[in-house]
Amino acid sequence: MTELCALIQKYPSDFCLICGSSPAIIGIFAPEDPQLWGAAPGKTRFVRYCLCLKCHENPETPKRAEKIIQSELAGGGLTHAD
Ligand SMILES: [Zn+2]
Repeated sequence: MTELCALIQKYPSDFCLICGSSPAIIGIFAPEDPQLWGAAPGKTRFVRYCLCLKCHENPETPKRAEKIIQSELAGGGLTHAD
């Protein structure tokens, strides 16, 4: 099993990144500039996230998801950005 396959497995502890509901979709966020997101130089960084169907269909979600992931990686402890 590759690393990416492991990332897109479902886990019982999964929840929607945006609203905390039970997730329907698992996504992988792969930033264009991984170093901005806390990766070591030369390393790629994948961030796994889950969305429920409702949030997945919301056109605002990609923007909000990126913000939430960014603040989580920065260690700010913020999990639900508005
Ligand atoms: Zn949701």
